[in-house]
Amino acid sequence: MRFGVPKETVAGERRVALVPDAVAKLAKDGHQVLVEGGAGAAAGFPDDAYRAAGATPGDAWTADLVCKVQKPTSAETGKLREGAAVVGVLQAATSADLLRQLAERRVTAFSLELLPRITRAQPMDVLSSQATVAGYKAVLLAADTTPKFFPMLVTAAGTLPPARVLVLGAGVAGLQAIATARRLGAVVSGFDVRAAVKEQVQSLGAKFLAMEEQVQAEGAGGYAKELSEDQHRRELEFLARSVRDSDVVITTAAIPGKRAPILVTRAAVEGMRPGSVIVDLAAETGGNCELTQPGKSLEHHGVTILGPLNLPATMPLHASQMYARNVASFLGHVVKDGKLQLDFTDEITKATCVTHDGKVLKP
Ligand code: NAD
Repeated sequence: MRFGVPKETVAGERRVALVPDAVAKLAKDGHQVLVEGGAGAAAGFPDDAYRAAGATPGDAWTADLVCKVQKPTSAETGKLREGAAVVGVLQAATSADLLRQLAERRVTAFSLELLPRITRAQPMDVLSSQATVAGYKAVLLAADTTPKFFPMLVTAAGTLPPARVLVLGAGVAGLQAIATARRLGAVVSGFDVRAAVKEQVQSLGAKFLAMEEQVQAEGAGGYAKELSEDQHRRELEFLARSVRDSDVVITTAAIPGKRAPILVTRAAVEGMRPGSVIVDLAAETGGNCELTQPGKSLEHHGVTILGPLNLPATMPLHASQMYARNVASFLGHVVKDGKLQLDFTDEITKATCVTHDGKVLKP
């Protein structure tokens, strides 16, 4: 089969869908991999490394299966061969026009953010691998912004207490943020509405904040579900004090398909000490802090609020390496005997295939 790896074109995107190691494995299995010149350059993978891995320079868009990070633009979709396939984070839920265009060209498209969070799909789980990068980087941004040290320091110039870091939402990104902040020596607390994460938070050396009457919001597929108005009000009241006492708040709370829940209100920000920092990883879906502006850094009452977008692209080498592993594993699932073989009774294929045979399969 002929695989294609084009250069990503979205502004600020430095990742690449397949790194040379992944290309080498495909080439070894007898596939041809067309890699666009410069496709991996921004991630630290020069053309030479792809050539050495067995890639063929050429027009990646003419391949049988094109591997992408971001969804293709309309112009890029127009370059796909009729009947070809494409895989990437297509953001299918909000890309109706793209899916229509892909179906019209009879392209088989797989949207990897739709992978079920089941054990079998773990090696393909791009949301987890990229959330790991985001959680780590969020802490570094906070450490770079706060006017304080993270660790406790006992020096001849005095004793400095450790920074207090609060992580709201302890999914993949939140747990990585907790682990990273702990490694930097901060005193860390974590909170989530899924009680199941309590032990995971504690095992990383952080304190789990437990409400007197813990909200239980375990939803389908291991995700959280939206809280009722009353539960949300109780949560905000409960969190206000911990937010006020923190030097750094990292928020990661998300509910699939919904706007991110507000966990830090304007009043809570105004209660924080000047110099405190909020890093809002939910900025892409509206933000967990009422004042977050996606993609911006702002100051309110002396508190810095960062709303970074696409943090994985800021660590493109490792982010691409992990992403490529995920993609390679997914390809291993749908490509058999040198061609695409789709079993729509399979949970993974059914969940991720968004267009096939001229039809849009997902709303
Ligand atoms: P996510 O990005 O959807 O959400 C981040 C966190 O925010 C979640 O832990 C969620 O419970 C929390 N949250 C939502 N609303 C909140 C609120 N009002 N207050 C506080 N916290 C709130 O989550 P994710 O990181 O994608 O992980 C989702 C689940 O999938 C987790 O249980 C994770 O362990 C699981 N998972 C399973 C697998 C697997 O088995 N293959 C792989 C990866 C993740």
